[in-house]
Amino acid sequence: MLDKFNRKINYLRISVTDRCNLRCRYCMPVEGVHWIEHASVIRYEEIIEVVKTAITYGINKVRLTGGEPLVRKGIVELIAELASLKGIQDLALTTNGILLEQFAEPLAKAGLHRINISLDTIDAQKFEYLTRGGNIKQVFKGIYAAQKSGLSPIKINCVLTKSTTIEDTQAVKEFCNDNGLECRTITEMSLEEGSFSIVNGGTGGDCQHCNRLRLTSDAKFKPCLFSDLAFDIRELGIEKAFLMALNAKPEKGTKNHTNYFNNIGG
Ligand code: SAM
Ligand code: SF4
Repeated sequence: MLDKFNRKINYLRISVTDRCNLRCRYCMPVEGVHWIEHASVIRYEEIIEVVKTAITYGINKVRLTGGEPLVRKGIVELIAELASLKGIQDLALTTNGILLEQFAEPLAKAGLHRINISLDTIDAQKFEYLTRGGNIKQVFKGIYAAQKSGLSPIKINCVLTKSTTIEDTQAVKEFCNDNGLECRTITEMSLEEGSFSIVNGGTGGDCQHCNRLRLTSDAKFKPCLFSDLAFDIRELGIEKAFLMALNAKPEKGTKNHTNYFNNIGG
């Protein structure tokens, strides 16, 4: 499906939960998060219906993100259902890796094609600081489990944050080179300030070539990460909300005062 600016939209990113087992400083506010009420969190049946509808409009690439997708119960079953839908050529998931040691193999068996793991430093102490308490050893075990399970390619998302340095990013790149992992680097963004740049080694942040729509963990289509517009599938119905989001895709992102990264999916 083409949007108003003749961009081919074929990619849907779905935030399956706003909950997370980490509290990264650049993702969640210091004062804590106002969680979406349980009743408002998008249900798996809704996700399946959304994806079925999106496929009919040319979406062939789906990524599950969050919050942390692996903390949501039944995620393996959801992947299996999505993998069984005809029309999805690329089924991916973005995770912080903390629970990946136990999930990598079941996810691969369920039909997940590939995975992105976030890692901004390989320094255990800095990681703990940045994530407000995360244990990097679990991420390393998760990466190893993903390699063993045959998920390929494995991409590492590395954000140059206010708390990390170019040297940290460089060390993550070397770690990736040494371990057969692809590395995508990005500079910390601010939704409120509308500051973003192109993802090196990835496809994000390049408005002219943007191919994506988003679905938030409270069931709203978003035309852009940097936009306050949102179209509620429960109020409008899935098809109408999808088409309104497509039609509202801005030529260029501006600002977003309504979301945090954890409920829009990063
Ligand atoms: N919890 C999972 C994870 O961390 O990979 C998935 C959700 S997270 C919101 C998705 C991506 O957004 C991660 O790669 C994370 O580093 C990135 N992200 C979060 N806040 C960001 C920010 N302020 N600037 C740039 N990237 C950010
Ligand atoms: Fe959680 Fe991912 Fe946000 Fe970190 S970046 S707090 S892991 S959702």
